[in-house]
Amino acid sequence: MVEFHTYPVNSVATAASAISVMKAVSPNNEALGLKQQGDYPGSEKLYLEALEMKLAALGENNATTALTRNALGELYLPMGRLDAEDQLKAAVRVYEAKGDLEKALETRVSYNTDTMVCSNYNCPASTFRKSDLKTCSRCKAVFYCGNRCQNVNWSARHKKFCKAPPSKL
Ligand SMILES: [Zn+2]
Ligand SMILES: [Zn+2]
Repeated sequence: MVEFHTYPVNSVATAASAISVMKAVSPNNEALGLKQQGDYPGSEKLYLEALEMKLAALGENNATTALTRNALGELYLPMGRLDAEDQLKAAVRVYEAKGDLEKALETRVSYNTDTMVCSNYNCPASTFRKSDLKTCSRCKAVFYCGNRCQNVNWSARHKKFCKAPPSKL
């Protein structure tokens, strides 16, 4: 029996997105090179270019887009830019929404400030002091401003991803 339905109906759109993402890889790599040479403004320009392509092709809530935001945030840190945090926080939220809690936590601790985002993707507030957030008691990898956000986020996505960390003993 021949299978005629091998390709999904959205394959053309998917291919178009894939091409845009491939195009974004080049400025992304060049940006990293410029950063290593100390050309921060040049690097920023290329990262912003890559980000724009990825946003157009994949949207905000995508791990590849988050990677570029992450890179941009890490570039802004040594530049002393205040918007470093915004880029990193946007990346954290995507990682958490996708269930990559390890990467999210790594990104959270990469910026050494006292402000953090709540792990509820739709939290009405933007930032909190670290000491005002409570961690999920099981995985200790997500942070909430209160019970309401924890409950909303638990049923919306976190219950799929929450696991106790491996025992240290
Ligand atoms: Zn919240
Ligand atoms: Zn958890």
